[in-house]
Amino acid sequence: MELLIQGRKPMSDKKLKIIFYGGTGTVTGANFLLENINQDKNEKKFKILIDCGLIQGGEEKEKLNKLPFKYGPESIDFLFITHAHLDHIGRIPKLVKEGFRGRIFSTPATKDLSGLILEDALKIMSYELNLKEALYSTDDIRETMSVWETIDYGTREDFKEGFSVFLKDSGHILGSSIVEIEYKEERVVFTGDLGNSPSPILKDTEFSNDADYIVIESVYGDRNHEDREIRTEEFKRIIKRTIQKKGTLLIPAFSVEKTQIILSELNSLIESGQIDSVPVFLDSPLAIKATEIYKKNTQYFNKEAKEKINSGDDIFNFSKLKFTKRIEESENIKNTPNPKIIIAGAGMSVGGRILSHELEYLSDKRTTILFTGFQVAGTVGRQILDGVKKVKIFDKEIEVRADIEQILSYSSHMDSDHLVEFVEKSNNNNKLKKVFVVMGEMSAGLFLVQKIRDNLGIDAIYPEEGESFEI
Ligand SMILES: [Zn+2]
Repeated sequence: MELLIQGRKPMSDKKLKIIFYGGTGTVTGANFLLENINQDKNEKKFKILIDCGLIQGGEEKEKLNKLPFKYGPESIDFLFITHAHLDHIGRIPKLVKEGFRGRIFSTPATKDLSGLILEDALKIMSYELNLKEALYSTDDIRETMSVWETIDYGTREDFKEGFSVFLKDSGHILGSSIVEIEYKEERVVFTGDLGNSPSPILKDTEFSNDADYIVIESVYGDRNHEDREIRTEEFKRIIKRTIQKKGTLLIPAFSVEKTQIILSELNSLIESGQIDSVPVFLDSPLAIKATEIYKKNTQYFNKEAKEKINSGDDIFNFSKLKFTKRIEESENIKNTPNPKIIIAGAGMSVGGRILSHELEYLSDKRTTILFTGFQVAGTVGRQILDGVKKVKIFDKEIEVRADIEQILSYSSHMDSDHLVEFVEKSNNNNKLKKVFVVMGEMSAGLFLVQKIRDNLGIDAIYPEEGESFEI
């Protein structure tokens, strides 16, 4: 009877609380907190963070990285990292600098790549701002890496606090994982970024199972990718055309995954004789180092890639490919006669060696520039893609006379239909109670929310920043 319990708070059966501190309403800055609530007296309280990424997308947004965390870094016991992209790891050294004393976990490959990427980001920050204004120092990175432990895919790790963790291959970049956390029979799945399988290198994205709650990315929540066959045909056509017009093909590329996919595609096309061999330059120290890490981790590659490697093919190398680590080597590229291909960072032409090449080649109508990834508004890459006649690089105005091409299916993100399929397959036991859609622009996120509700009849929500849910 109602009267009997009046004045007494009914015991809630909720076991966990999830708070969305970042990665909501936008594709960057992933930062989610999971803590246990209503625990018994003899149970320990724990606070777990999933990812601690940098907020990106223009100066105004990036200033937000400087603000203090909305929770005490010292109160966090564990940090699990889904993968090594900066929008998932970029604020970890800041967290450590500001008092985090817990344990960090990821796959071994994610740890390796993260060390490299954090160092590179610090170099860029110190160059663009100055050391005083950088978010963290080399010491903070060292401290971060010293408390970073590793767990491999497929091994369940039990913690004395009463929860367990299981990592699955998300197929997005080398080492990327889906983090499944289980506490008192509730399984909460954090997808991180999900891959655009099948990849020429990585294994297919694994599905989750028996999920009670899913926190899912939605970068391409409202779009589907073009066919992979078309992508290779397009790439071939663009290279052949470059050779025909004796021009330079500029490919602004992201250093991790996309560069390795492009190298492996070039390797296949050249070694099978589908295109003529021309000089190719990988002009990015970060991409060169990332490729080395890929080569050391072939155990994570798919069957086809492994077979090629076992038959003696270095899938990231072919005749006439040159890795130009030093700046003098980079400057010398212009002395190599056309036709040639230059792959350089940054992927959106914000900084990096691609800018010098754009300055050198964009005004030449024999040049083709090929975009292989999303170009954020305001970047040089976006301006070129939008067809501006002149672009400003290093304070110089340069006329754009190059041909402009784009192949979007090089994306390493899962597209809309496959995101829905991921949710459906993860609901194998009909246990799924709610899907939280994050890491997407509002239109993409809301579209996916609707699609999950309509197609699957499962409750889905696009949480706001700072919003919390008891589950
Ligand atoms: Zn990512």
